[in-house]
Amino acid sequence: MSASIKWVGPPRSYTVGRPRDIRFIVLHDTEGSEGPDSAENGAAYDKRRTDGVSTHYFTDSAGPALQEVADRDQAHAALYHGNAIGIQIEICGRASQTRAQWLDAASRPTLETTAALVAHLCQAHDIPPVRLTTAQCRAAWYATPSSRPKGIVDHGTVTKAFPEDGGTHTDVGSNFPWDVFMTMVEEEMGKMDNAEWIRLHQSVDGVVDPAPPEWPASAEKDDGLSLNSIYRSTYSKAHQAAADAKLAVELAKDNAAALARIEAAIAAGPVPAPVDGTLSGDVTFTPKT
Ligand SMILES: [Zn+2]
Repeated sequence: MSASIKWVGPPRSYTVGRPRDIRFIVLHDTEGSEGPDSAENGAAYDKRRTDGVSTHYFTDSAGPALQEVADRDQAHAALYHGNAIGIQIEICGRASQTRAQWLDAASRPTLETTAALVAHLCQAHDIPPVRLTTAQCRAAWYATPSSRPKGIVDHGTVTKAFPEDGGTHTDVGSNFPWDVFMTMVEEEMGKMDNAEWIRLHQSVDGVVDPAPPEWPASAEKDDGLSLNSIYRSTYSKAHQAAADAKLAVELAKDNAAALARIEAAIAAGPVPAPVDGTLSGDVTFTPKT
């Protein structure tokens, strides 16, 4: 599989331009059918619908991925923050699917088309092929510019990360086979050479990477694919740990700064001066000094 994309846009509703750079790819599901024409039907509907909803891409079991909004513009699928810094992919299927249904003969080809598209987008926008936690998703907007994570999320994570947007969507649902899907993405990325792959992983901004594991030049000749995947999986985990550690330090700094502001505000007053005396009624008190 490799990413093949067909332009079918534009939809009735989208926004030209973005207020900030792309930080993540957002997976959705259409809550509709998952047949070979589902993506075409979805794109056709987006040209008619009047509720202001759109996406960048649709994927279904037949491929290719259909694109209706340019990556540089905002599709309308994930409210303010999700739209501003996200690329939206509508996977034809339902969030209520069981794991087995996500991996059945209808959905697996859809996941493969989606994974090839995601790998392509990661390459195109310097997004590392890692799934972001809710905290990392929020930090993608709110952290200091040099430490905003990039990666892959679903709509449900965006909803939790930005409660101020008032979203309610939980797609792609709790049974989405993230493990299988991310392996598919990694396999697509495996078609890149190591230097390109490492460069992408290092593009999580601001993270000083641990020293990459030694890569024996001869190994690739012997068993390129499997050794590559072991190498990359080891490197991925080390990189993710470094990224998480950096984020934790940033959040701790934010918290310390907030606490300092609160303490300063308390110290500055105004607060009522303590007085010895009698409250209304018969209660007397002596303030502590
Ligand atoms: Zn959604």
